[in-house]
Amino acid sequence: MMLWEPTREAALARLAEFVPRAGRAYAGTRNVDRGPLDRSNVSALSPYIRRRMITEEEVVRAVLQKHSFAAAEKFVQEVAWRTYWKGWLEMRPDMLVRFDTERKALKAALADDSNLNRRWQKAIEGRTGIDCFDAWVGELVTYGWLHNHARMWFASIWIFTLGLPWQLGADFFYKHLLDADPASNTFSWRWVAGLHTRGKHYVARAENIDRNTQGRFAPYGLLNETAEPLPEDAPPPLAVKPRYDPPQLDGRVALLLTEEDLHPESLGINAEIAGIAVLPSATVSASESPAASFSKAALQDAAQRAAAHFNAPAEIVDPAQLAAWAKALGVRQLVTGAVPVGQIAWQLRDLPPALAEQGVALVQLQRDWDRKLWPLATAGFFKLKTKLPGIAMEYASDQPSPQSQQISLPLGLS
Ligand SMILES: Cc1cc2nc3c(=O)[nH]c(=O)nc-3n(C[C@H](O)[C@H](O)[C@H](O)COP(=O)(O)OP(=O)(O)OC[C@H]3O[C@@H](n4cnc5c(N)ncnc54)[C@H](O)[C@@H]3O)c2cc1C
Repeated sequence: MMLWEPTREAALARLAEFVPRAGRAYAGTRNVDRGPLDRSNVSALSPYIRRRMITEEEVVRAVLQKHSFAAAEKFVQEVAWRTYWKGWLEMRPDMLVRFDTERKALKAALADDSNLNRRWQKAIEGRTGIDCFDAWVGELVTYGWLHNHARMWFASIWIFTLGLPWQLGADFFYKHLLDADPASNTFSWRWVAGLHTRGKHYVARAENIDRNTQGRFAPYGLLNETAEPLPEDAPPPLAVKPRYDPPQLDGRVALLLTEEDLHPESLGINAEIAGIAVLPSATVSASESPAASFSKAALQDAAQRAAAHFNAPAEIVDPAQLAAWAKALGVRQLVTGAVPVGQIAWQLRDLPPALAEQGVALVQLQRDWDRKLWPLATAGFFKLKTKLPGIAMEYASDQPSPQSQQISLPLGLS
């Protein structure tokens, strides 16, 4: 059952409806999980923002045009958490590789470890006997979404009460969430486990759940509330820094649409578009899950909008055919919204050399918001938080977004 219509129009309607409540009302009530059919105290925009059907800049601008920064600070900070996790991953791409390797090894181990398998099955089928947890499993599978506080409680119970590996929990979330995001999901699970901020973990407490679910759940005596953080698992040192170049587009280019950025109209492309290639991620192509269906419909919505906006034909193009497709159009540049570290970037890894053979370059346009904020994710959130008011207020005026910037290959990392 999908509560989110996969169109930009629906995203804009949801944003307009939420904006009046994005100030102190949000700050005061956002931690309350009222259940799946009442999301009026939070924006519930994440499936849209995740794919940039609406952008962070747009959301922040709409909110700051209605509220002072002081009133909307909490909301803007939450949007910035998403940016922080993405920036963190951009500078430590190996962390996703490490997670993926561990996740796969644990999934393989399920075949041999019957004890782990039994406990894992109980958890993912919502048969643990902890009623809140079992209900959240049902909610996640049915709607593809959980309130932020429920995600924190869920992850904490998974790790500290059920004693299951966090990587399997992150895998379960990633499979079902409509907003599944490699950075926010992986690092939020690590944060709950105490692996992000050394020695600091998130312990779900029955009293907190009782109060913030307004008495819907009261798991007194069922949770491990004295757990210690997981043993340290240090991140690799900063490996790469994002590199930015000024935009340099030919007069005529081709456009590549991926689930990482479904609003090409605001990428600042001032060139004729000869054709639009739509590239679904491998998961989306292979799955019939609600999240995959959402992505497919969202891609279609974006393709239709882009075709009308740029007056160019849009078609699904197999990644292996992209270079030949671009060459046949007679362009020298294939332009796309920046593809951050993650599955689609992995899918596109071989594309630049294949394109180069055809005399075509992949140009990734990085959004202004990311360009300013990602480099601040070198350590804890504090550094980014300190700079946030100044940067966010640049978006409060009626001015259109500053232009995106071109970033160099491969995939924006040097
Ligand atoms: C274990 C765990 C896993 C998570 N996995 C994901 C994920 O895969 N994808 C995802 O988008 N978010 C994830 N989050 C973050 C957060 O729970 C969701 O973004 C949020 O619940 C979305 O609800 P909303 O749109 O109503 O947010 P609001 O409270 O209305 O906030 C506005 C926007 O800010 C961003 N945001 C808010 N809180 C966070 C946060 N804590 N971290 C990062 N961004 C945030 C989202 O884009 C959100 O739409 C996870 C959190 C936890 C604890």
